[in-house]
Amino acid sequence: MDFPENSIRSAGKKGSVEVITGSMFSGKTEELIRRLRRARFAGLKVEIFKPSLDNRYSETRVVSHDEKSIVSTPVDHATAILLLSENVDVVGIDEAQFFDISIVDVCNNLADKGIRVIVAGLDMDFLGKPFGPMPALMAVAEYVTKVQAICMRCGELATYSFRKSSEDQVVVLGEKEKYEPLCRQCFNKAINKKPLHG
Ligand code: ZN
Repeated sequence: MDFPENSIRSAGKKGSVEVITGSMFSGKTEELIRRLRRARFAGLKVEIFKPSLDNRYSETRVVSHDEKSIVSTPVDHATAILLLSENVDVVGIDEAQFFDISIVDVCNNLADKGIRVIVAGLDMDFLGKPFGPMPALMAVAEYVTKVQAICMRCGELATYSFRKSSEDQVVVLGEKEKYEPLCRQCFNKAINKKPLHG
């Protein structure tokens, strides 16, 4: 089931987990910001968090690629989100793939308390493997939305984040100079061409 657009308030009172996921450049953060803005318009108290690791653009803002941004709090560990979410109706979490597995308990705990939790993150790493806690978050979520980018090579819908550089650790922060969104066919061709992973 997709996200229930017409029940912003009741979703907040009941508590639930929503996951927005997909490849890089798929509009995850834009969709997170859109939902959080609508919750604010509805008069709800909203707090936004991101891992302090992700400081590509700014220490204190969730910034999407189209530069619509929203002020967020960087946290070193997922459990800090629990402490910082007193008297909040809606909690947004961006770049959730960089948290450890404890983010799952944190999200469940918040939702159990009646908080609407909206989590955005990459579903797969640069090798096309499920990324960190995202599979578990998708399992416990009431609502999962997968968003797609456009394949840079053929124009189909893209679900993979292909790393153009040759670094082989999982976490390499970067933007269009380092990654390109690809569809399954183009991704498979691209990784077979690279001797490092071929
Ligand atoms: Zn393609």
